Amino acid sequence: MPPATTSPLAQHRLALYGSASLVATSAVVMRAFKERANFYAATVWLGRSNGCILVLVNFGIFCTILFGKFCQAVFFGQLRPIEVEHLYERSWYAVTETLLAMTIFRDQFDASFIILFGTLLFLKVFHWLCADRVELMEQSPSLSRLFHARMVSVLWTLFCLDLFLVAFAIEVLILEQQRMGIMIMFASEFTILTATLWSTIAKYVLNCVDLRSDEPWEGKSMYVSAVDLVTDFLKLATYLCFFSLILTYYGLPLNIVRDVYVTGRSFFGRIRDLLRYRAATRNMDTRFPNATAEDLARTDATCIICRDEMVARGEGEFTPPGAVNDTPKKLACGHVFHFNCLRSWLERQQSCPT
Ligand SMILES: [Zn+2]
Ligand SMILES: [Zn+2]
Repeated sequence: MPPATTSPLAQHRLALYGSASLVATSAVVMRAFKERANFYAATVWLGRSNGCILVLVNFGIFCTILFGKFCQAVFFGQLRPIEVEHLYERSWYAVTETLLAMTIFRDQFDASFIILFGTLLFLKVFHWLCADRVELMEQSPSLSRLFHARMVSVLWTLFCLDLFLVAFAIEVLILEQQRMGIMIMFASEFTILTATLWSTIAKYVLNCVDLRSDEPWEGKSMYVSAVDLVTDFLKLATYLCFFSLILTYYGLPLNIVRDVYVTGRSFFGRIRDLLRYRAATRNMDTRFPNATAEDLARTDATCIICRDEMVARGEGEFTPPGAVNDTPKKLACGHVFHFNCLRSWLERQQSCPT
C-alpha cells in the first residue's frame, strides 16, 4: 500500500472548508456590489469592514493551501507519513515563533505582515520537505530519474526565490526605514532559509556522488559534518547580526533568543566533535599498531563493528590508494578492528566499541 498523505477524512475536511470559504467570499463580494455601483467603490466598501477583510483573508489562506497542495504534487508526489509528521511539528514551531515576534512588533502588524508571513511559512514548508527528501535518499537505494528531476527543479526554484526575497527584504529595509522591525525579522528569516537550502543542496550533491559508486564512501561523513558546520556558522552569524540590530532598536527579541541558543549550542557542539574526531583519528596509522597474526589468533578474528573477518597484513603490505583500508588495528585495550571500521566508529564516539 502506498503511504497515504492525506486521509479521506482530511480531504473531506479540506473540501468542506473550501466550499464554506467560497460561499462566504461570494456572499461578501455580492453584498459589496449591491451596496456600491462600481468596482472601485465596492473594493473600498470591502476594505472598511473588518469582517469582510477577515473573510477575504480566510479565502486567501484556502487558495494558498490549494496552491501548496498543487506544488507538493508536482515537486514531491505523495508524502511519506514521517514527512507529514515533521511538517506539522515544524509548522507549529514556526507559528509560535511568529506569535512571539508579534509581541515585539505589534504596532507594525498589518496586511503586508500577513502576506510576508504567509510567503515565509509557505516557503519554509518546501524547504523542510526538501531536507527530509534528501535525508531519506540514503534509505531508498533506487531513485528514479523523476526523483532527481523533481529535486533539481524544486531546489533551483527555491534557491532563486530565497535570493530574491533576501534582496527584497534588505532593499525595503534600506529604502523604507519606518517599518524596520518587521523587515529586519523577515530579512533574517529569509537569510536563514537560504542557509538551510545551501545545506540541503550540498547534501543532495554528496548523496548523489555517494550513490554513483557501489563502494561505501569513507570520506562522506567528513564532508557532511563540514556542511553542517558551515550552515550552523552562517545561521549563527545571521541570528547574532539581526539579534543585535533588534536589541538596539526594539529591545530583547524574544522570538530568536531560543534560535540563537539552539544554533549556538549546535555550532559549538559540532566544533567540539570535530576537534575530538581530529584528535582521535589523527595519525591513526602510527598511533594504533597493526594487529599481528598472533593477535588475531587470540581473538576470533572477527571485527565486531562490521562482523567481517580480519586478515593480518604482512610486512610492507599497504592498502593501495582509493581502496578501503581494512588493515586490522589494535587498540591499547587489546581489541582489534578494521582500520576503516575503527575510523568511522571514532567519528561518532571516542572510546573502544567493545
Ligand atoms: Zn570491520
Ligand atoms: Zn577495547
